[in-house]
Amino acid sequence: MERRQESWPLRRLRRAGVALAVLATLATGGVLAAGIAPAGAYVIQGHAWPGHVIRYHNAFPADAAAVAAAVHDWNTSGADVRFVSAPTSQADVTIAEMPSNFLDQTAGADNSDLLGYASVGMVPRSAVVVSPSGNVRDHGAHIWLVRIGSRDASGVKVSLGTMQRVAAHEFGHVLGLGHEHHVCAVMQPALNEGCGVGHPWIGLCTDPLQPDDIRGAVALYGGREPRGGKRLCTLSPPPPAPQSASAAAPAGSYNVTLRWRNPSGITLPAGAFDPYSLAGRPTIAAYEVDGSRHGCPAPQHDLIERWPARAGAAMKTSIGLGPGSWCLRVRIGDAFNRWGPAATLHVTVPAAP
Ligand SMILES: [Zn+2]
Repeated sequence: MERRQESWPLRRLRRAGVALAVLATLATGGVLAAGIAPAGAYVIQGHAWPGHVIRYHNAFPADAAAVAAAVHDWNTSGADVRFVSAPTSQADVTIAEMPSNFLDQTAGADNSDLLGYASVGMVPRSAVVVSPSGNVRDHGAHIWLVRIGSRDASGVKVSLGTMQRVAAHEFGHVLGLGHEHHVCAVMQPALNEGCGVGHPWIGLCTDPLQPDDIRGAVALYGGREPRGGKRLCTLSPPPPAPQSASAAAPAGSYNVTLRWRNPSGITLPAGAFDPYSLAGRPTIAAYEVDGSRHGCPAPQHDLIERWPARAGAAMKTSIGLGPGSWCLRVRIGDAFNRWGPAATLHVTVPAAP
């Protein structure tokens, strides 16, 4: 339950790449191989390809952007292996659209939310690979992907960003990696589960490969060990201070007029992360004014007003204050309920004559 909560609501990849039936022609005797890895880390499930180059043919142009991103991510990961595009006749791996009869439709089979599927590790071109339903069979290593923009089992459109991660996951299987269940990894059965994304403004990076994934590939192919812990990216900077803030107290009135301009913030892009609730949403969401006659108020103290506000807007508000020397602070809040630094204004409201 908790694991579901902390992961972005990416569709799950249950069973993807596991136990792909490779029929009897597979000379290596099966895809399950003993992997030596630290406890709770990457799982090696297949055999490495020889020669550090894996030629792939993308026979599914609709998902070309996702495939290209995944290839780029792995080719720049530091592992000493490269995916290289090749014509069908020379390809080790074929990428194809997952057909509707791909899945096991028998009662009780729970794979309606499968977005990708792959063979694991080196598979000879003569070997037959078979889909879970048994209806789809082909020769040689394969990745099957659903179409970007198609609707998943919950009716939500599958974004490019999601399919970039799915493709990275499936290419990980092709390298020989199995499912990792313990640490943050794109090789988690449910994309990057366990990454501990605890704040809504912290998300997975566009390149979803985690150090654990890369260590697994380095164990198979050699290369540079990644440094550091899990890779998370800030989706949106915290809101900056209001711009050009001023306060004026007209003579003979207790009303103080505040003016400022809201920062522009950003509009959260689609695809790089949670594609459901945040995409297209502006980060600048609200302002608040705090005020005190006894020194400057601490954040969120002595609240005078707080209202929704638009990014980039020229703001003007009139506040009725008693006479005295006021310290007013204006802050901008964002869609994640973070508050930026204050613009501090001092204004003296004269006592009525
Ligand atoms: Zn998988």
